[in-house]
Amino acid sequence: MHVFGLTGGIASGKSTVAAVFRAEGVPVVDADELAREVVEPGQPALEAIVAAFGPEVLQADGTLDRKRVAAIVFADDEARARLNGIIHPAIAAASAARFARLAGEGHPLVCYDAALIVERGIVDAFRPLVVVAADPALQRARLVARDGASEAEAAARVAAQAPVEAKIAAADVVIHNDADLATLQTRAREALAEVRRRVAS
Ligand code: ATP
Repeated sequence: MHVFGLTGGIASGKSTVAAVFRAEGVPVVDADELAREVVEPGQPALEAIVAAFGPEVLQADGTLDRKRVAAIVFADDEARARLNGIIHPAIAAASAARFARLAGEGHPLVCYDAALIVERGIVDAFRPLVVVAADPALQRARLVARDGASEAEAAARVAAQAPVEAKIAAADVVIHNDADLATLQTRAREALAEVRRRVAS
C-alpha cells in the first residue's frame, strides 16, 4: 500500500479535494479527525495533558476544554512545545494504526490529509505530496464565510501557517484553487490521476 499526502493552508480547499479522492475510491485519513480522537476521554494523550497542565483543562463532562488549552499555549512557547510533544506522537501512532488497518483491507493507495505536513518536515514520508494552493485573500474570505471568523481572526489564522509558496515548493502535484468548486473537483480528479501515474512508475 502507498500513502500519499494532501496538504494546503487553512480553508484552501483540502476537504473538498479529499471528498473527491474518497469518491474515486481512495480512503483518506484525516489528521484533524485523529487529533480530536486522541484527546477523547480515556485516551492516554488526554491523561498526559491533564498531568502537564492541570485538571482545569477539563470541562465538567471530562472532555478537553480546547479553548482553555489554546489560551494556555497561545503566548507560551514552552507550553506549546509540551502540548505538541504529547499530541504529535499520539497522532503519529493513531495514523500508523489506521494505515495498517487499511493495508490489511487490501487498499493499494491511501491519502493522508494533514494541514501541517510541510511545517512538520514529514514531506518525504508522504510523496507524491499534493498541495492545494489558494490565494490568501480567498482563504480569509472563506474563513469569514464558513466559520463566521472576523477579518482579524481570519488574517491571524492564515498568517500562522507556512506561506503558500513554501507549500508549493515542497509539492509534487499542485492544485490551484482559483476558480469555482466544479473546477476544483475536476482538478482534484486530474491530480489523483497524476498521483497514480507517479506511484505506478
Ligand atoms: P480547513 O483547513 O479549514 O479544514 P479546507 O482546506 O479543508 O479547510 P474546504 O473546507 O475544502 O477547505 O474549503 C473551505 C470552504 O471554502 C468550504 O466551505 C468550501 O466549500 C469553500 N470553497 C473551497 N473552494 C472553493 C471554490 N473554488 N469556490 C467556492 N467555494 C469554495
